[in-house]
Amino acid sequence: MLSAARCPLTGVIMKLAKTLESVRALVKAAKAAGKKVGLVPTMGALHVGHVSLMAAAAKECDFIVVSIFVNPTQFGPGEDFEKYPRPLEADLKICRKAGVDAVFAPAPHVIYPGENLTWVTVEKLTEPLCGRSRPGHFRGVTTVCAKLFNIVGPDVAYFGQKDAQQAVTIKRMVRDLNMPLEIVVCPTVREPNGLAISSRNQYLSEQQKKDAAKIFQSLEKCREMTAAGVTDPRQIIGEMRNVLKQVPSMEVEYISIVDAETLESVEKVAGRVRIAVAVRLGSTRLIDNILVDAGR
Ligand code: AMP
Repeated sequence: MLSAARCPLTGVIMKLAKTLESVRALVKAAKAAGKKVGLVPTMGALHVGHVSLMAAAAKECDFIVVSIFVNPTQFGPGEDFEKYPRPLEADLKICRKAGVDAVFAPAPHVIYPGENLTWVTVEKLTEPLCGRSRPGHFRGVTTVCAKLFNIVGPDVAYFGQKDAQQAVTIKRMVRDLNMPLEIVVCPTVREPNGLAISSRNQYLSEQQKKDAAKIFQSLEKCREMTAAGVTDPRQIIGEMRNVLKQVPSMEVEYISIVDAETLESVEKVAGRVRIAVAVRLGSTRLIDNILVDAGR
């Protein structure tokens, strides 16, 4: 199933593919024409963070595919799979404006035609941080990304630093399974108040959006402390917790300072570390992180 529409701004004819065969045919034709193919995997409800990935792809690739698929296997019981926003028409408009060549928006049965017995699991990296509270989440993510890579066959796939554990895990899957593509990780796009932009921010009230700015402020506190030479993670985490406590309704799930590559907690803040935070504001779970080079 294939449809096409020309963007009034760019003149690009964007194709909408809903089946494996149609997206494969589009990519095959692009590759036959010598084009470098970039894939931006998303769950839709597109925002400027997603657009930044499309822009990065446009700089390096000649044919950009955006996939839009709310992947059921990465949601746990009681999570927001049903209520996750699915504004396909608005998403297509955003993709058209960004100069995307093809959108792959399959129905669930296209990706999961029957009971799924084959899963991709990346060990170790998926255990800490979000892995603790979302068992099975990363298995769902790596499996769907492996499927998307197999279906689309991109030369490069683009991911956001916002979901740092996801990016590290996918890079590792690609390396460990010798998948023939490159993974590019792009910086987190933020609101002016520092809040990392996320499709889930739609669930927040205006007050909660203001309160959520404390997440980035706590990360900035960590950056300041490491720049001032503090190396004890407990001391830093304590100060970060004090920042987050300024919002009484905010429930902290974790604040972790981990090695940027292994994601293991560090005993001393030195070298490249990632500071990652997960909180709950009402029923909405929000995550954020920054990379700090604390020197030696
Ligand atoms: P999602 O649709 O939430 O699964 O996200 C699709 C991709 O967009 C993932 O690689 C995310 O890390 C990335 N992404 C989401 N939010 C942002 C953001 N604020 N800045 C940069 N990338 C983002």
